[in-house]
Amino acid sequence: MRVAILGAGFAGLACARHLEQNGIYPDIFEKRHRVGERFPNMEAVMHLMHRPIEDALVYINKLLEVNLQPAAVVHTVKVHSPNQQAVISGQNLGYSTIRGHDDRSWERQLASYIESDIIFNSSPDYRELEKKYDWVVIATGDSAISRDLGVWTTDIEPFLRGCIIKGNFDPGVIELWFDQSLSKQGYVYFAPYDHHEACISVAAAPCSPDEIDELWAAALDRFKIKPQPGSEFKVEEYKIGRVSTRQVGNILLSGNAGGFIEPMMGFGQIPSLLSGFYAAEAIVTGADYDLLTDWFNKRYEDSLTLRHYMQHLDNQAFDRIVLALKNRMSQTIMKSSHITLLSFLAKAVALRKMVSR
Ligand SMILES: Cc1cc2nc3c(=O)[nH]c(=O)nc-3n(C[C@H](O)[C@H](O)[C@H](O)COP(=O)(O)OP(=O)(O)OC[C@H]3O[C@@H](n4cnc5c(N)ncnc54)[C@H](O)[C@@H]3O)c2cc1C
Repeated sequence: MRVAILGAGFAGLACARHLEQNGIYPDIFEKRHRVGERFPNMEAVMHLMHRPIEDALVYINKLLEVNLQPAAVVHTVKVHSPNQQAVISGQNLGYSTIRGHDDRSWERQLASYIESDIIFNSSPDYRELEKKYDWVVIATGDSAISRDLGVWTTDIEPFLRGCIIKGNFDPGVIELWFDQSLSKQGYVYFAPYDHHEACISVAAAPCSPDEIDELWAAALDRFKIKPQPGSEFKVEEYKIGRVSTRQVGNILLSGNAGGFIEPMMGFGQIPSLLSGFYAAEAIVTGADYDLLTDWFNKRYEDSLTLRHYMQHLDNQAFDRIVLALKNRMSQTIMKSSHITLLSFLAKAVALRKMVSR
């Protein structure tokens, strides 16, 4: 069986790995000259986002028979609003992950397990691949091909700016700020690489190129940030959305191309890895890819409900939410591995709307 994978990122490499576990060696086309040559930044995998999976990294490592290592185990999350701060602590709340060309990034770690050829500096037309291969897996990290196929709907378009800073940090602590003056209805996100370097970024949506620059200038000023030379990045109109189907003929849409990123906080690493795994599973077993991945649809819907709710919040509302996070019961709910938090919160938002009508 001939399989082409377009994109050697999270979804593409997870797909390749699971195909290889089943004796299929795909051709992987990557437009850059090496794996992970995206701007360097820090991301996170928080367990509360992935329930009922208890530990997403353990789960992925088992599925793909790999040993991906995080930058750090997150033991503390500090959430700030203009007048409140909540500190959530626990032995293992999730992981921080390095992205980009750093050898410690998950895409680089995953690539080290792949035996198939990765053809670099190569971005063939998917329409040509469709004719030559039995299956084509789109794992390009964006929605361009899904839009071209007419199956994509964009829900939000965050703008992001960030950089790397030097200092003394605890790698197990990540911080979030919800504050209109810094990120509108988005958030400021801080995560250390290690004890000496950290990444800080601002994500805002809806937004515009000028607005994100203004917000970034406000964040630089407020946190007295001195970006490491050459480390600043800017992402415009990062499209988060849904597809009406993830399979068009012999084309399977995975990762961001298949809408596997949740709209509330923009978390997509674990869904992308899983989508790659399921794309391979569909190829190997002949199972319906849409059915194999429909677990994500409800998750997406819940997350979108929360994102729409968040879009109407002001600083006072952020204060109230952060105050509520300090509450012992909220903390227990967040740490409990049995409660699917997204669904729980989406139901709470729906109930609140009904009551206020
Ligand atoms: C600034 C930022 C912060 C984020 N923070 C978090 C976070 O904290 N937690 C979280 O879970 N998620 C986060 N995300 C989302 C997460 O990074 C993505 O959901 C995830 O990387 C998507 O994986 P993917 O496989 O679809 O794409 P990628 O991992 O981006 O891989 C796509 C690959 O395809 C290649 N490619 C693109 N076009 C072509 C082409 N035409 N031909 C060949 N190759 C091509 C690219 O070069 C790349 O190597 C963040 C995203 C951004 C931008």
